[in-house]
Amino acid sequence: MAHTVKHDRDNCIGCGACVMVCPKFWEMGDDGKSVLKGNKDNQLEISDEDVAINKEAESSCPVNVIHVD
Ligand code: SF4
Repeated sequence: MAHTVKHDRDNCIGCGACVMVCPKFWEMGDDGKSVLKGNKDNQLEISDEDVAINKEAESSCPVNVIHVD
């Protein structure tokens, strides 16, 4: 089953926690906010095996702008 990671990038404060926890999927952008690698419109389809690590990123975000469905 496909899952989706969504990043409310407008409200990202650039703390870097998601990048620390899940560098496979997250990196810092030139503007100081994080970037969901390979995203389209700040969303990315992920497979079952990548849900847990992105859930960790979701949990690590202090402003709750990462959502894993
Ligand atoms: S943890 Fe949240 S606020 Fe911090 S860089 Fe990642 S998305 Fe932005």
